[in-house]
Amino acid sequence: MHLEGTLEAALKFQLSARNGVSLPYSSEEEMRAAYDFDDLPSFLAMYYEGISVLLTEDDFYDLAFTYFQKAHSQNVVYAEVFFDPQAHTSRGVEFATAIAGIRRAQSEAESALGLRSQLIMCFLRDMSVESAMETLETADQHRHSIIGVGLDSDEKDNPPIKFADVFAAARDRGYRITAHCDVDQAESITHLWQCLNDIGVDRIDHGVNALDDPSLVAEIASRGLGLTVCPISNSYVTDGLKASQIRSMLDLDLRVCINSDDPAYFPGYITENLLAVQEAAGLNRGQITQLVGNAFAVSWLPDREKQAYIDRLHEYAVGP
Ligand SMILES: [Zn+2]
Repeated sequence: MHLEGTLEAALKFQLSARNGVSLPYSSEEEMRAAYDFDDLPSFLAMYYEGISVLLTEDDFYDLAFTYFQKAHSQNVVYAEVFFDPQAHTSRGVEFATAIAGIRRAQSEAESALGLRSQLIMCFLRDMSVESAMETLETADQHRHSIIGVGLDSDEKDNPPIKFADVFAAARDRGYRITAHCDVDQAESITHLWQCLNDIGVDRIDHGVNALDDPSLVAEIASRGLGLTVCPISNSYVTDGLKASQIRSMLDLDLRVCINSDDPAYFPGYITENLLAVQEAAGLNRGQITQLVGNAFAVSWLPDREKQAYIDRLHEYAVGP
């Protein structure tokens, strides 16, 4: 889940007024009506437009804390969340400003709501390798605040291998590594193999197209890699939720879990995503428990802490 993708219309309007940033809409309704994207590039255009209202540390705090409150209302106890530093530094907002607001919200969410979180920094794959490397170097000052690095934005003509050196440098610094393999992209299978063989990812975001190549499925399974699938997001940028594929992934013992991606734009947080896939694929209680358990199993927590969450999940799922 991308923090910038939790920017709901109401907060976007509030921040645009607070910061004197004009938006090309006269009302929240008009803005929501413009969310008519049907592929990754048309979504990204709206996503970056929204980001333009985020300028101060308080803006990033409000963005993140509003999300944590929403997640808490859906009984989320732990979240690994992305942010996109280059989407801010490229418009003159400092890395330190963004991360300070986010860190403050994380710490308040933990103390006030009991919701823990860790932060993943994504590189924008449609920007240059030099920019990604510069971002990695800037992040050295905040190393203790970031658990891992990822790769997002427009996948077309931006294969994972483009950033092989950046990921190698991130690995040397001790970061965990994930990368988006968005659904139904050109060269999806090639990109998935690059993530495995050239990048050495610890996890894959989306990755549904792995099902098209049995040897890829076997390799992902043998490495125990997690796949963070986002059903409602899929329904906006591809031809459907991919619910039957999620069911197939469970049948194949892949460590698939359910995520909300950009919930302000693909309406639905974690509960709505779980419900959507449950209804569409007819999943039973055990399969839903497996999906949620997988999310903890593939998280970047120490093993003991993972197990404590999984034990709580099973207690809840079995009932009193
Ligand atoms: Zn994403």
